[in-house]
Amino acid sequence: MSAKTDTNTTHATNANTKTPITVASGDGIGPEIMDATLRVLEAAGARLDIEKIDIGEKMYLSGETSGIPASAWESLRRTRVFLKAPITTPQGGGYKSLNVTIRKTLGLYANVRPCATYSPYVDTKHPNMDVIIIRENEEDTYAGIEHQQTDEVFQCLKLVSRPGSERICRYAFEYAAAHGRKKVTCFTKDNIMKLTDGLFHRVFDEVGAEYPDIEKEHWIIDIGAARLADTPEMFDVIVMPNLYGDVVSDIAAQISGSVGLAGSANIGEDIAMFEAIHGSAPAIAGQKVANPSGLLHGALQMLVHVGQPDVAESIHNAWLTTIEDGVHTFDIFNEAHSTRQVSTGEFADAVIERLGRRPSKLAAVSYAAAHDHPRPTGRVTPTVPKQKATIGVDVFLHWRGEPNDLGAQLEAASNDTLRLKMISNRGVKVWPDGFSETFCTDHWRCRFLQPGQKAISHADITALLNRVADAGLDFIKTENLCTFDGQRAYSLGQGE
Ligand code: NAD
Repeated sequence: MSAKTDTNTTHATNANTKTPITVASGDGIGPEIMDATLRVLEAAGARLDIEKIDIGEKMYLSGETSGIPASAWESLRRTRVFLKAPITTPQGGGYKSLNVTIRKTLGLYANVRPCATYSPYVDTKHPNMDVIIIRENEEDTYAGIEHQQTDEVFQCLKLVSRPGSERICRYAFEYAAAHGRKKVTCFTKDNIMKLTDGLFHRVFDEVGAEYPDIEKEHWIIDIGAARLADTPEMFDVIVMPNLYGDVVSDIAAQISGSVGLAGSANIGEDIAMFEAIHGSAPAIAGQKVANPSGLLHGALQMLVHVGQPDVAESIHNAWLTTIEDGVHTFDIFNEAHSTRQVSTGEFADAVIERLGRRPSKLAAVSYAAAHDHPRPTGRVTPTVPKQKATIGVDVFLHWRGEPNDLGAQLEAASNDTLRLKMISNRGVKVWPDGFSETFCTDHWRCRFLQPGQKAISHADITALLNRVADAGLDFIKTENLCTFDGQRAYSLGQGE
């Protein structure tokens, strides 16, 4: 597979060359599971030159509001490979999530989360689960653009782009092709979010058509997630927008046995970050009981990425042997198959003792034909600008009162260029002909349209806003209503 060859060429190491990597031990259980993971990597002969950086809670609290100092960025941009333990984002205080900052700043757009079961040694209702979740990592509500607009209403912008959707969908199909996977499923909520999730779904269909040998299907996320939790065997590779991927991958990891088992790779054009999918688990931090397997699995993905699949195979088989021998941390301990409940460090020792062994009951893994994560092509279809016309504007107001009173005031502010068409509250039409039963907040969307659907100018909008302000109304934002090549490019109000 050329994708693998490319990556391995980039990071190729011969037997004596060490690959520089950046390591952060993180917060909470982070230092404990990182120590265990690094001990296993070292014992297995991983050829790594480790640069340690300090990021996370300590940095936030020392006044580094981003949680990451400049020297850490410098290390990441030099080594281009990052093994990261979970970090704690302090609650309140306006701290941004460092995980999201790192993923977005470094362009790590594909988040790959394999979730498999190890039945019967790890308790699960789903003995045959082997699912790869591929989560879009940069867009959606994780743009983190939020505003309080009125006393009662807060807003978070959900941004979905065509290039972003195309890159992640293509990555999912490339991953499936590289790993001999048969099917790629897409989860969205495009029955509700027809423009944003609708775009993601459409792009999935377009990109999928380039892969005739791979089966493809789409599920609405609610029933899709329910089926995944109930019958995960019916899924293979699943691709989805950021927020859904965040939630669904935790569910998938948990039903596979423990959220402490799954690793995650964050892949960008030429930088990659490897981690556990779980967080810093502050409640069990310092007790030395956490399962280090999630981070270790992330590290296995990293070893393949840096061209050391031989070491990854050796560790993975030793890990499987440890699991089938019943040496288990508390989270996967079960009466039927556990023989010893061990601490984080003892679990690492048990894996180290078993290096060189292959499991006899669980299927051994072979990385001989190991495929790296496909090297992202970054290829996106060039955007061909369409004919855009602005034909109206939604004016959002902070206001208290009855819809019909607001309608009367705004009709007075209308003219032949922009006429009030509708007022909605939380998306539901309340004027004209609203229902008295509809609950209204202090946040109103007032839709003005050019009556003949002809193009209007920015000056027409600012003139309208001046009239609205002159009427003593507090506008908080506007959204232009456009057509692209004559197609309506905004959603209708519920009941409009
Ligand atoms: P969490 O994943 O830390 O913990 C959820 C539950 O799983 C807890 O009961 C915890 O004890 C258990 N758990 C997690 N990892 C485990 C392990 N290795 N072994 C055994 N049990 C384990 O989620 P949370 O409590 O919601 O978040 C805690 C902190 O972690 C928050 O500050 C959050 O922002 C942060 N977080 C960081 C990352 C990351 O760094 N990538 C990801 C998610 C959450």
